[in-house]
Amino acid sequence: MSAHRPPPAEWQPIQSLLQAGLPQAMLAVGESGTLVGQYCDDLQQVALCFAPSTQGLPCGSCRSCRLLAEGSHPDLLVITAETGKRIAIELVRHANEFLTFTPQVSARRWLRVEPAEAMTAAAANALLKTLEEPAARAHILLLSERPSQLLATIRSRLQRLPFPVMRPGQCMVWLEGLGIPPAEALWLSRQFENRPLRAWQLWESGWVTLRQTWIDALLNLPQQGPVAALRLADHWAKDTDLLLLRELMLSLLADLLRLRNHRLDNIVHLDYLQLLEAMAQSAQAISLWETLEDWIRLPESLVQNRNVGMMLETLLLSWVSIWSREKAHGITS
Ligand SMILES: [Zn+2]
Repeated sequence: MSAHRPPPAEWQPIQSLLQAGLPQAMLAVGESGTLVGQYCDDLQQVALCFAPSTQGLPCGSCRSCRLLAEGSHPDLLVITAETGKRIAIELVRHANEFLTFTPQVSARRWLRVEPAEAMTAAAANALLKTLEEPAARAHILLLSERPSQLLATIRSRLQRLPFPVMRPGQCMVWLEGLGIPPAEALWLSRQFENRPLRAWQLWESGWVTLRQTWIDALLNLPQQGPVAALRLADHWAKDTDLLLLRELMLSLLADLLRLRNHRLDNIVHLDYLQLLEAMAQSAQAISLWETLEDWIRLPESLVQNRNVGMMLETLLLSWVSIWSREKAHGITS
């Protein structure tokens, strides 16, 4: 985990937070794949550390730091839920009780709830009571990907922590630091911007090859026509991560829209630049936007309609149609 940490200088607010006195009820917001979880690790370590530095860094060697490294700090309680699972009231009741006890090792007790929106309504209400009147030396940190899903009464009790947004340049340096070759780090950082962990996890799982396979298939499709689109939809419907495909499509469509306006800044798929430029010029702008909207709406469509095959057919036919009128007029590039 520590190998994934960005240089501490990237988050100076931790220093001012400590100086001003840590809030007792805190909210950390970040999409999955951002470094928010790691910033929260840093914050809880420094909050529990016996001798944090004036820069707001944990000492790394006191009893508290050692217990955290071992994963057995008695003043830290983390409540989490697996993807799609809920956090039940029993866990929150236990946490409420945990917070009332005197700290055993450090100067405070620390509760972390992650992701906070996974709490059931009953669990959230149970936590609300503690947030209204936290015990002295009790600190509660809620991590959330979608804070709008939290009860408004809970949100209003929390102080939102300021986390840095990683810029593509920083993300690229960070990815290179993990051993990713510069050319790959470049397009990864442009595609995933503020989500370097997501980029890193994908890279580890073979994204370089998969991305190329998908892009080649997609960029060839307009020339091959609707029948090929239906065949590809059928093939992909079997075992394709649709949300990952969506991320790729969104970045390809964004590249096409930028190139259509002759903007070369922030192009993600630089290794396909020439082909994308040609395709951008022969694309119909309206269809580009319509296709983009369809892909943006995909998560909602998936909730309403579980027929992945049909959905993919529609999406890929729509992709092909971006260039179909030009084809009919015989102006393919
Ligand atoms: Zn320490």
